[in-house]
Amino acid sequence: MYRTHTCGELRLSDAGKKVTLAGWVQRSRKMGGMTFIDLRDRYGITQLVFNEEVDAKLCEEANRLGREYVIQVIGEVMERSNKNKNIQTGEIEISVSGLTLLNSSEVPPFTIEDNTDGGDDLRMKYRYLDLRRSCVRKNLELRHQMTMEVRKYLDAQGFLEVETPMLIGSTPEGARDFVVPSRMNPGQFYALPQSPQTLKELLMVAGFDRYFQIVKCFRDEDLRADRQPEFTQIDCEMSFVEQDDIINMFEGMAKYLFKTIRGVELTGPFLRMTWQDAMKYYGSDKPDMRFDMRLVELMDVLKGYGFSVFDNAVYIGGICAEGAAHYTRKQLDQLTEFVKRPQIGAKGLVYARIEADGSVKSSVDKFYSQEVLQKMKEVFHAKPGDLILILSGDDAMKTRKQLCELRLEMGNQLGFRDKNKFALLWVVDFPMFEWSEEEGRLMAMHHPFTHPKKEDISMLDSNPAAVRADAYDMVCNGIEVGGGSIRINDPQLQAKMFDILGFTPERAQEQFGFLINAFNYGAPPHGGLAYGLDRWVSIFAGLDSIRDCIAFPKNNSGRDVMLDAPGTLEQKQLDELNLVIDIKDKK
Ligand code: ASP
Repeated sequence: MYRTHTCGELRLSDAGKKVTLAGWVQRSRKMGGMTFIDLRDRYGITQLVFNEEVDAKLCEEANRLGREYVIQVIGEVMERSNKNKNIQTGEIEISVSGLTLLNSSEVPPFTIEDNTDGGDDLRMKYRYLDLRRSCVRKNLELRHQMTMEVRKYLDAQGFLEVETPMLIGSTPEGARDFVVPSRMNPGQFYALPQSPQTLKELLMVAGFDRYFQIVKCFRDEDLRADRQPEFTQIDCEMSFVEQDDIINMFEGMAKYLFKTIRGVELTGPFLRMTWQDAMKYYGSDKPDMRFDMRLVELMDVLKGYGFSVFDNAVYIGGICAEGAAHYTRKQLDQLTEFVKRPQIGAKGLVYARIEADGSVKSSVDKFYSQEVLQKMKEVFHAKPGDLILILSGDDAMKTRKQLCELRLEMGNQLGFRDKNKFALLWVVDFPMFEWSEEEGRLMAMHHPFTHPKKEDISMLDSNPAAVRADAYDMVCNGIEVGGGSIRINDPQLQAKMFDILGFTPERAQEQFGFLINAFNYGAPPHGGLAYGLDRWVSIFAGLDSIRDCIAFPKNNSGRDVMLDAPGTLEQKQLDELNLVIDIKDKK
C-alpha cells in the first residue's frame, strides 16, 4: 500500500498511530540534529521529522532529498510542540522511521508556492507544476464542485444530459469557425461547434423536452481576459416554455449555485432591465449593478451657451461620482488620459465639483453661469462633495460606451466593485438585428433562430431595426454569465428571418436545411439558454481571468505554450488531407 492517509488528513486525535504517507517534498529545513520536511499532496501538507540521534543514516538520506522529489515514508503521528495554526495538520508531525524514494525531480523552474516567483509564460509552459500550487488547484476543485451541483440541480428538474458531436458543420453564433479537414471526403471540412444550438433544437423536435450538456464550444475570435478559443458552456434547452419559464428555471439555478458554492442567499427575483434602458443608463448591455452611478443626459441643460464642443455634440452625458470632489488636479488629469486612451477614444473630459457651500466649480466655468451649473447639479441630484464627470460626442452610442468605461473606472477607484458582493440581473428585449458595417447588412444580434417579440412581428417588413427579440442575458457584476432566447418554430417565420438576414432560400437551405426541414415535422415551442461555466467559476473564485480556472488554457495569441500548439503538419499528413499550404502574408 502506497499510503494509509493523505497529507491533509491527520489530526491530534491520530497521535500514536503508525502511518504511511506519500507525496512531494515541498521544502526541507535542517535545524541542529533534526531535519524537517513539508510533504505535500493534493489534500495538504504534513510535517515530517527526522532525528539524527535516533537514526543518523535515515536523516542523511532525508538531507539528500531535493524539492519536488516523490517519497513514501513510514512513521508515527506525534503531537507537535511548535503548532502551526495555518494548516489543518498543524498540530501533528510524523516521526519518520522509514523512507523510500519513489522518484527524483529536477529543480523546478519556479517555486511551488502560492506566492511563486514564476512569471505567467513560465508557469503556462510548466502548467503541470503550476497546478501543484494550492491556489491554482483550488480553482479546479471549485470547478468540479460547480459541475457536480449543476448536474444535481438540472437532474432534479428532469433535464437529460445528451452529448452532441464535435465534428459538425457551421453553427450560427456569428464568430469564425475552427475547421477540421476530412481525409475521407477530400476538399471538405468539418467545423467545430461554436455552440450546440442547432443540435439542441433538433433534440426538442425529437421530444427531449429538457436537455442540458456541459460542453466545449469553439470560436475563432480575438481573445480577451474573459475569452478563450475553446470554452465550456452549460447548454440548456426546454420545450413548451415561454421566456418567464426559462428565466425562472435558470434564476433558480443561479440562486442554488450561490447558496451551495458560496453560501450566499440571493433573495427575491433578479432585476430585469430592458436592453434599451441598459444602454441608456449604463452604456452597456452588461451593466455592473454593484453600484448605481447611472448615465444622465445633459443635452437640454448644456447646449447653446457658446461652448462649441457641447454645442456641436450629438450627445452630452455624465455621471456623478459620490464623494469624489476631493479629486486633485492630477487625478482629474489621469482620468482625462484614461478616457482619451485609444481603446476608449473620448476627446476630452469636463468635470464639475460640488463645493461644501453647494456652489458648482467646473472646468468650463467660462461658458456656464452658476445658474446653469446649479440646474445641472439638480438633474444629477448631486450633493456637496460630489464630482460630476461629463463626456460628449457625435455618436450617442459611442459616447455612452465611453461613459460606461469611465463609470467602471470610477467604480474601481471608489471601491464599489467588491469581489465579494454580487449583483445579478437579466437584460431582456434585445434588438432582433444589428447593422454590420463590415457585411453591409443586418445581422442577427443573438442568432437567426431567435423569436421576435410577438408584438413586434408586424414591423419585420417595415422597420426591422426596431424589432425586439425574446432574448435575454444574465449578467453578474458586469459580466455576461449566460444568455439565450425563445426560438422560432414556425417554418414561415424562419424563412422570413433568413430573407431579412440576406440569405437566399438556397443558401439558407444549404447551411441550415437540416433544421428548416426538421421544423416541418412538428417542432414544439421551445427556448433555452447557455451559461458560461468558465465565467461562473472565475466569479465564484474571485479571479480576474477565466484562464485561472481552466486546467490547460491558451495564451492571448491562442497558443498552448506547453503543448506548443498549433503547429505545422508533416508533408505526408498534408498529402493525405489534400491540403496545400500557401501563406499569402509571409511576415
Ligand atoms: N447558443 C447560444 C449561445 O451560445 C445560447 C442559447 O441561445 O441557448 O450564445
